[in-house]
Amino acid sequence: MYEKLELLIDGEWRPGSDGKTEPVINPATEETIADLPHASAQDLDHALAAAEKAFPIWRDTAPYDRGKIMQKAAAIMRERSKQIAETLVLEEGKVFAEAHVEVLVSADITDWYAEEGKRTYGRIIPGRIPGMRQFVYKEPVGPVAAFTPWNFPAVTPIRKMAGAIAAGCSCIIKASEETPGTCIALARAFQDAGLPNGVLNVVFGVPAEVSKHVIASPIIRKISFTGSIAVGKLLMAQAAEGLKRTTMELGGHSPVIVFDDTDVEQVVKAVVGGKYRNAGQVCISPTRFYVQDAHYAKFVKSFTETAKAMKVGNGMEEGMQMGPLANPRRLEAMQEFVADARDHGAKIETGGERMGNNGFFFEPTVMSDVPDDARVMYDEPFGPLAPISRFKDFDEVMEKANGLEYGLAAYAFTTSDKTAAAVSEKLQSGMVGVNSLAISMPETPFGGVKHSGHGSEGGIEGLEAYLNTKYVAQQS
Ligand code: NAD
Repeated sequence: MYEKLELLIDGEWRPGSDGKTEPVINPATEETIADLPHASAQDLDHALAAAEKAFPIWRDTAPYDRGKIMQKAAAIMRERSKQIAETLVLEEGKVFAEAHVEVLVSADITDWYAEEGKRTYGRIIPGRIPGMRQFVYKEPVGPVAAFTPWNFPAVTPIRKMAGAIAAGCSCIIKASEETPGTCIALARAFQDAGLPNGVLNVVFGVPAEVSKHVIASPIIRKISFTGSIAVGKLLMAQAAEGLKRTTMELGGHSPVIVFDDTDVEQVVKAVVGGKYRNAGQVCISPTRFYVQDAHYAKFVKSFTETAKAMKVGNGMEEGMQMGPLANPRRLEAMQEFVADARDHGAKIETGGERMGNNGFFFEPTVMSDVPDDARVMYDEPFGPLAPISRFKDFDEVMEKANGLEYGLAAYAFTTSDKTAAAVSEKLQSGMVGVNSLAISMPETPFGGVKHSGHGSEGGIEGLEAYLNTKYVAQQS
């Protein structure tokens, strides 16, 4: 059952005023599942006015009361989690079990922010001048514009909506037009929980037109974007015109370093599931495997056998481990990455081809002896490709790992505490997983460095992103 697609403007669910729509496609069948209404320029102005009007009302609502509405929204999300997960699978393609976990995690994120919103503490700084009292206050930044991608249709919008709402901001969100139903379902949970009209507005349209219009408005004080580096740069330039604060969660190209003091079978077990989660369309997906000489052959063999055994199919079918790619652009990109790697001398151990001709399915792929100058080693693959290469020593692999402009996530496997400490220190990355790929929780900061962006979502840092600091000096 697929979600009813509507815009949410000033508390009203409705179509676009000029009747424009676009089709939403199921990537497993290539069938059109619904038509998505676009917001006209007039609708966007209406959403901006609603966010402006709602902001002081919500800012002045006690954090305790904001938290109660958010907790109710989280409970509604849990109640509807199976239904929302079905919508997610139909529009994005990932397998139902992954989609269901994503919705439940979204409820957890909402709960976590509901609590943490009560703790936007300031501080008192002892004065130098007799009788001077010095206060630091945290205040909501103002109406927020949020833009989210298609690969995590629940988690990427909820991090922004829940963070902004918990901080006392109003918000206009434009989720991906390819996966709109999940964000709509989450927004319905907030509305049904009693969120005042205009605090949350959901719009869709031609991405470049919507973002330009909304970011240019003086009403908007903060931009939060998750997506590609190219679009992030564009939105930052637009935000700079109005000197607006930004949070940018952009692409990654995560190295996985496997040292020869590890148990190879255990490492393979820990990383294969992570590699093919959401068919590799994950910004923190492990995407460059560097394996130390002694373990290299065994690692390639074991990884290949595990990848070959993966069950790939429609995410709504029982027992599937990987669904289709989310759109035909990824399919084309995978074919280009594989052809380029082959041309550069890489060996295709398994996969490398499209599966069938209905739905955007691509084989779980393993490539060995992939040279550094093959595109897949320096350009984010965002798909089910596992390129593997070997290294000799610590310094060599650190140079490779840090050699790209990406800096979102990095992983290392070792049994040595000394090596673990050294990699944690040396890796140029916003997040580092040592002996684990589990680096994202509601309470932990999520974000990158270098071209992977700036700012964090999740954790207290995720709330800070929606708060201004005000200093007050009071002489008595
Ligand atoms: P894209 O650059 O066209 O779009 C990326 C996302 O940004 C989409 O959700 C799109 O709707 C949105 N977008 C595009 N132009 C926009 C604009 N002017 N204003 C606001 N939003 C805009 O690329 P794509 O083909 O959808 O995805 C390809 C690449 O994007 C991937 O290879 C990956 O690097 C990156 N990506 C990253 C993430 C992430 O989680 N960081 C998620 C999805 C895609």
